[in-house]
Amino acid sequence: MGTFDVAQICLNGHVITEMAGGHPEYRKEFCTECGEKTIISCQNCNTNIKGYHNVPGVLGIFSYYKPKYCEKCGQAFPWTSRQLESAKELIDLTDNLNTDEKADLKSSIDDLLKDGPKTVVAQAKYKKYIGKAGSEIGKGIKDILIDVVNETVKKAIWGQ
Ligand SMILES: [Zn+2]
Ligand SMILES: [Zn+2]
Repeated sequence: MGTFDVAQICLNGHVITEMAGGHPEYRKEFCTECGEKTIISCQNCNTNIKGYHNVPGVLGIFSYYKPKYCEKCGQAFPWTSRQLESAKELIDLTDNLNTDEKADLKSSIDDLLKDGPKTVVAQAKYKKYIGKAGSEIGKGIKDILIDVVNETVKKAIWGQ
């Protein structure tokens, strides 16, 4: 129940405001954290990004989680695709994996983010290859993905 406000988020994923609709004065054209352009809707289908959930009569502390994919067209938001790209670029830096192994590890990164039947397979693949890829790559990928993967995946691949 209730209604959703609109969120404004920069292309790198910094949340500017979860109340861009109700409080347009909170809007910023550019991100003050990183200088990137901000958006309030999906660049593919123009659907507004859901923000604060207003429930009549309920006052509560509400933690906002920005979406990874558009709820209307399923396209990854720019911050999600940038995280995936960075993780994949890191994988390309290692000399310890051959081309097939790199491709396999990269595809596991896509599935780690999505909560689906392939996530479990992706966890197994990730663990299989990341040790071989080297601790520097592993640490880099962890830094990129720690805030975007869900708790189950975190526990499974990093034990936390
Ligand atoms: Zn930013
Ligand atoms: Zn969309």
